[in-house]
Amino acid sequence: MSGDRGSRDSSTALPSAPSQPPSSGAALEAPLVLVGIAGSPGVAVGPALVVGDLKLQVVHKHLHAPQVDDEVARVKAAVRLAQDTLRDVSAKMGASRETTLILEAYLLMLEDPMLLDRVERKIRVDKKNGEWAVAEASDEIVAAFGTPEIRDAYIVERRHDVEFVCDRLLRALLGDAAPAPLRLDEPTIVVARDLSPADTAGMVREPVLAFITEVGSRTSHTAIMARALEIPAVVGATDALKRIRTGDTLVVDGLSGTVIVHPGAVDVRDAKLRSRRHIAFAKRLLEAKDRPGATACGERVALKANVELPAEAILAVDHGAEGIGLYRTEFLYIDRATMPTEEEQYGIYRAVVEAVGHRPVTLRTFDIGGDKFASSFQLPAEMNPALGLRAVRLALKQPDVFLTQLRAMVRASAHGDLRIMVPMVTTLPELRAARELFHRAVYEVRAAGQPCRDNIPFGMMIEVPSAAIMADAFAREASFFSLGTNDLVQYALAVDRTSQSLAELASPLDPSILRLVHAATRAAVAGRIPISICGAMASDPLAACLLVGLGLRDLSMEAAAVPEIKAAIARVTVAEAETVAEASLQCDSAARVRELLHEAFGDRLADLLSGYGADP
Ligand code: PEP
Ligand code: MG
Repeated sequence: MSGDRGSRDSSTALPSAPSQPPSSGAALEAPLVLVGIAGSPGVAVGPALVVGDLKLQVVHKHLHAPQVDDEVARVKAAVRLAQDTLRDVSAKMGASRETTLILEAYLLMLEDPMLLDRVERKIRVDKKNGEWAVAEASDEIVAAFGTPEIRDAYIVERRHDVEFVCDRLLRALLGDAAPAPLRLDEPTIVVARDLSPADTAGMVREPVLAFITEVGSRTSHTAIMARALEIPAVVGATDALKRIRTGDTLVVDGLSGTVIVHPGAVDVRDAKLRSRRHIAFAKRLLEAKDRPGATACGERVALKANVELPAEAILAVDHGAEGIGLYRTEFLYIDRATMPTEEEQYGIYRAVVEAVGHRPVTLRTFDIGGDKFASSFQLPAEMNPALGLRAVRLALKQPDVFLTQLRAMVRASAHGDLRIMVPMVTTLPELRAARELFHRAVYEVRAAGQPCRDNIPFGMMIEVPSAAIMADAFAREASFFSLGTNDLVQYALAVDRTSQSLAELASPLDPSILRLVHAATRAAVAGRIPISICGAMASDPLAACLLVGLGLRDLSMEAAAVPEIKAAIARVTVAEAETVAEASLQCDSAARVRELLHEAFGDRLADLLSGYGADP
């Protein structure tokens, strides 16, 4: 932590004028293709505006004792100002729930004692001025998420959240000294190292054609906001700032994750046609959202949503999800110094269950540890955190925290179709110990005279190879299974799920993973318990068809993928999917499995795989 740094990066700061002069003679330059990540679907053509990094100047001043109270009051006023600004942005966003809920989370973070107490201590004890205290507190909280090498999308996002909130606070403290927001005179493609959600939202009234950022992933908030605003985006385009100059003509393809700098006339014509086709196609897919999921032969396949924040439950329903297949509760423990209380959790779980009406909701108990850091737990440093104290292992070591969560979940069962699931179960004794605590929670809730449902299903994730191998034994004791292929891949193929360099190896289509999925599915069917999948594999149209062939009839995925997967499943019969699944189990590589899937279903899913719909 460098307390003496005179300035700090502000990837969210945007200039009021282009940061570079327009390039001349762009039309003469050869087309150049940049490859990034498809952040938000759609295709756009237009001129670039490069908004490079700006520094928010942070002045360091030592205070005299009599100035301290006023400085603390100044920070508190800045918190209110920052919240008002965010509310303005939120109001401008109109009806989009997805963006509004991100901004609401920021409003709460601005009041978080973990940040404000830290800032106040620096002012009162270290006698640092407000800007200095906020900048330093931000650095410290970000550092608590581990070293910058940790690139897990979830952690990167949490760091980004802290930086963004502190940036807003600094801007409020700086007042007129902070850079003005971006104003565009003509339809423009904004190119930046990174964009915060509120900066993206702040441009909602500006004629932005597309976004390109150098950093970010598909799950980064920039991408989520761009998707909510229905603006094409390519994120993670590593060299964008080096290769693109203000005024360059660009084609941004948010479906393939590519950018063409200085496109030719044919590229531009083709991009405009694809843009029109994509818009019409996405609209058509969403129109079918109320149709229940089923194969071409009429076999029902439930399509549900994975949710991380309570307000996302409504989003799930908006996309036609038939329930919530995975509600991750980690967010409750993150960015805070104290544990969430039973009442707080009960309120949140109840709201989620009520938001989806009669639809089923599977709540997962906390999956903290490994790559999922939480400040409210004092976790020991481990050489191999992914193989260490994580999820149910941590829950069993801290039974009071676990019981509090279980009681809150049990109480919420009085309000809807609620199921409880435990992550990372490795052995039967672990499941038994967790179940015993669940029974105790039920007993305590009843003893306190609080209502709850009878026979709440208590299931487990199958995401450790031992659980898949022993699935027949687990099926006798768990109420249901949910396949977590993200971790199953990590543990079965021995590839760190956060590794970018080994991402190729980490394929859920690897035949070893398919065999584990198949074994667990057969065990569930034989044991007469339901089985679903909530790993990211289910949101890939080809993989979803394969999963049906492997016996799955319940798939859970990010809400936005539901309409697409519903359409994919509806074009395939169970018999066809089973034939491909059988052949896949005998393949020698993930690449061969993908080839098989393309051969079998590639043509009929071509519109979904490309995102453009059928030829006009
Ligand atoms: C999984 O591991 O597949 C899963 C759904 O859980 P998470 O991604 O939260 O670890
Ligand atoms: Mg997992």
